[in-house]
Amino acid sequence: AHLDRIAQIDGELGAFLHVGVDEALAAARAADESIAAGTAGSSLTGVPIALKDVFTTVDAPTTCGSKMLEGWVSPYDATLTRKLREAGLPILGKTNMDEFAMGSSTENSAYQVTRNPWDTQRVPGGSGGGSAAALASYQAPLAIGTDTGGSIRQPAAVTATVGVKPTYGTVSRYGLVACASSLDQGGPCGRTVLDTALLHEVIAGFDPRDSTSIDVAVPDVVGAARAGAAGDLTGVRIGVVKQLQGEGYQPGVLDSFQQACEVLRGLGATIVEVDCPSFEYALSAFYLIMPSEVSSNLARFDAMRYGLRVGDDGTHSADEVMALSRAAGFGPEVKRRIMIGTYALSSGYYDAYYGQAQKIRTLIARDFAKAYADVDVLISPTTPTTAFKLGEKVGDPLSMYLFDLCTLPSNLAGNAAMSVPSGLADDGGAGTGLPVGLQIMAPPLADDRLYRVGAAYE
Ligand code: GLN
Repeated sequence: AHLDRIAQIDGELGAFLHVGVDEALAAARAADESIAAGTAGSSLTGVPIALKDVFTTVDAPTTCGSKMLEGWVSPYDATLTRKLREAGLPILGKTNMDEFAMGSSTENSAYQVTRNPWDTQRVPGGSGGGSAAALASYQAPLAIGTDTGGSIRQPAAVTATVGVKPTYGTVSRYGLVACASSLDQGGPCGRTVLDTALLHEVIAGFDPRDSTSIDVAVPDVVGAARAGAAGDLTGVRIGVVKQLQGEGYQPGVLDSFQQACEVLRGLGATIVEVDCPSFEYALSAFYLIMPSEVSSNLARFDAMRYGLRVGDDGTHSADEVMALSRAAGFGPEVKRRIMIGTYALSSGYYDAYYGQAQKIRTLIARDFAKAYADVDVLISPTTPTTAFKLGEKVGDPLSMYLFDLCTLPSNLAGNAAMSVPSGLADDGGAGTGLPVGLQIMAPPLADDRLYRVGAAYE
């Protein structure tokens, strides 16, 4: 049914870069057999899933939305891919994304535009817009994203779906093509909080192949989602981040947020305002640290080992082939970040830029820690506005970066965070009738709190 749905509507939406019909049907048949034999790998056995095209798969290309990797098939599965297969979830295909996960609208994909199912003239968010659009249009009941600065939560917010960035180090990055290694985190996306929790349980866990993987038990996110669904938040203390509201936010988003606070209060939670002064510098710090790591990680695309090779005709030196290939293979945003990152890391500038940004990162983590001494979770809008129009911010990278204002602090601190649907904006403006997301943030390794509060609110 999902493959039919994809065949029927994805021509218009552009959520998938690749659909693996035969592979998905074979996996579905195997799932049926395992259920009949009583050997099903998980409670999600047989439930199909869409996978962001940044996780390696042996049976489909992994392009990261880049011409650099056009047609490239990995010789190995990512740990996350393997876990999905072992749990019996048929992979429907690979979803569109901003090139190497850099962007907030999926318009930086080298292949195609993905449209927001709520309004096809608008963006589905990014960089994981393909996964969010697939979910919101019922092309897939579950999806996987990655969140370096908001790429799971922000598309979830603008498509009325649920997206979770788990605590850094709790979902393996092995086989997740690196963007900014200290920030990247794979995570689950669904249409309900419980669905998302069930998927979270499948993909999380220690992996010796990822040097930053944390060897601790995964919190009981499914139990927390079930408990939360009872709708009782008595005794739960919730902090509203003072710095993540106000000027620059769309009135309909702020109204929705105020209503969410009322709903949570009605469920028995205590709501207080908390001050996180260093969040003001999150955007500046992120856009130095992230490009710095990008400039280093993307050096691997040297046209020698794999990927696009241009100019290999006997008339060019190896250096020239590398330069020609990188010039042809990377899009404008990727090049911009490689240049910013290379500059920020260069000797003489390192302390002034990268070093300062790392200090801000520590201050942000301290703001969180101080806040969590008094409250169980923090909340804010997920995005300052509803989905913008396709093309609206393409020529203005800074305004595109601002769309991530609320999601960046959790990545910089390595914390867990969720976006859960918070109704439709209703302010009489252009965003009226478009989805709004409520962001819930929790301390590291307390991902279960997101699910308890999210399921109660939902
Ligand atoms: N939108 C942010 C960026 O462009 C974050 C992207 C992400 O989370 N991968 O870097």
